[in-house]
Amino acid sequence: MSSDLRGAESDLVPLADRLRYMQFFRLLTAMAVGLCWLGLPASRGLSALQMVVATGCYLGLSLLTSGVWRLKRRVAMTVYGVGLLADGLYLCAISYLTAGLGAPLEYLVLVHLIAITLLASFRTGLKVAIWHSLLVSVAVQLQSAHVVHVHNTGLAGTQQASMPLFLGLIWMVTLATASLAAVNERELRRRNYDLQALARLAWELESTSRPEEVAQALVDAISEDFDLSRTVLMAAPSGQLEVLASKGVSPVSTSVDIGDDSLVRRCMRERATLRVARLDAAGDPWLSAGLPGALNIVAFPLYAEGAPVGVVIVEYGSRPGARIERRVLTILERFVSQTALALNNAWLLSQVHTLAATDDLTGVANRRTFELNLELEFSRAARSGTSLVLAMIDIDHFKAVNDNYGHWAGDETLQRIAATLAGTVRSYDLLARFGGEEFVAIMPGTDLETGMAVAERLRSAVEGLTQEPRVTASIGVACYPFNAVDKESVLKAADEALYVSKASGRNRVTASARSTVSFGELSSTGPHMRVG
Ligand code: GH3
Ligand code: MG
Ligand code: MG
Repeated sequence: MSSDLRGAESDLVPLADRLRYMQFFRLLTAMAVGLCWLGLPASRGLSALQMVVATGCYLGLSLLTSGVWRLKRRVAMTVYGVGLLADGLYLCAISYLTAGLGAPLEYLVLVHLIAITLLASFRTGLKVAIWHSLLVSVAVQLQSAHVVHVHNTGLAGTQQASMPLFLGLIWMVTLATASLAAVNERELRRRNYDLQALARLAWELESTSRPEEVAQALVDAISEDFDLSRTVLMAAPSGQLEVLASKGVSPVSTSVDIGDDSLVRRCMRERATLRVARLDAAGDPWLSAGLPGALNIVAFPLYAEGAPVGVVIVEYGSRPGARIERRVLTILERFVSQTALALNNAWLLSQVHTLAATDDLTGVANRRTFELNLELEFSRAARSGTSLVLAMIDIDHFKAVNDNYGHWAGDETLQRIAATLAGTVRSYDLLARFGGEEFVAIMPGTDLETGMAVAERLRSAVEGLTQEPRVTASIGVACYPFNAVDKESVLKAADEALYVSKASGRNRVTASARSTVSFGELSSTGPHMRVG
């Protein structure tokens, strides 16, 4: 999560903007004071010089605080607070202490309160109202104690009487503005929260590339940002849906088993967000098992390139009749559509990876993947001191297959052979098409004897294919470090052994006759070992 995003979460209006608007407000206040002083001689409690000095000091302080803030941003909140206190003092001095309560200038206090409540927050508005109330009370006390002399004597006589009225006005204005502003503010804060949550999800999705990670990012975001504890995302680029991510869901099989009446299918068919009060165990046995006792379910369809590719199921309340806000539904729909886009990209990426790694005709690993894996397995074997077997497989007389049955039938035969070989090697072995009608198997952590046994199973599997044209395979096997110690030599050793198989009649498996110096005593120095 970037610090910029986090920083922006707390404030609706950035502090820098608020300070700027306050400067503008102060300038307007100073102008209003000047105009009142010129236009209403009755309210002149100050000489022109006093008024200019007081206003100049006020504006100077205001400029100074913004300068301090620019230099030291960490003190921004303090500067902002000091500015508000200074506003109160200036307005108090300029209105009550000069012209007294009831004079037109005092309404600037009310304008100040409205401005602060709207600009900062209703909480700040309430605090400033307390400050103004305190200042009014102190000012009136000072006047009645004759500490401060009010020039407009007519008004001065009513100071004490007007005070409760003016305090009442201060609080009425503040509370009315605050409560109306609070409604707007709450809505703005929620929208701000939603946007931040969406930005966080987009950021998470940006840093994921696998479909499962993309799905998990959405499920985590839903549970963290909206406190919805049970969520499941099931999707597939085409065909059988799979659970890609879930939270709070009982473990059921990842391949989704659903009928046409299930909520999942309906949601995908209708391409709309669906809400149900409870799951129907008969129509939705799979979901009911995953979300036992679920109430208040909402299902969102996932689209990729206009086609529905999955569904996100969310439980939004565990008590009957719980409601989900329209706002939450809308933002969740945005979450889901953003995720669908990322999911589609992840699928495309994995498709590109698969295409780059597999052979077009047979679907098994291609030569490039073989080279990469051989490199990897060799360094692993060297590191861990384990052995590794390579088996080179060549289809016998394949040219004749093409000649007799045609190239197309030859291709089909190669596909069948590849599928059989891939299904016969062990799960941790790699079968690749080496080129033409040649295949190669890497068997990590395998000794020569086991490698020979696997190779014999491969030979026999090809021989066992009953569909015409029937073919056989010759295989050469070499083992690291038994026959050679570097990968080129092991490959060469397997190739040599393969040609021994060919030369000795085909349809057989031969182990390499090579031996390394250190393993010389262990290796067979006699004729090639043959099976078949
Ligand atoms: P041997 O038992 O000595 O290996 O005989 P062979 O005929 O299999 O060997 P050769 O190298 O003479 O011929 C290999 C043949 O495999 C020739 C080529 O047309 C065929 N072949 C290679 N790749 C493909 C392919 O992708 N599709 C088809 N249909 N045939 C292929
Ligand atoms: Mg060949
Ligand atoms: Mg051949």
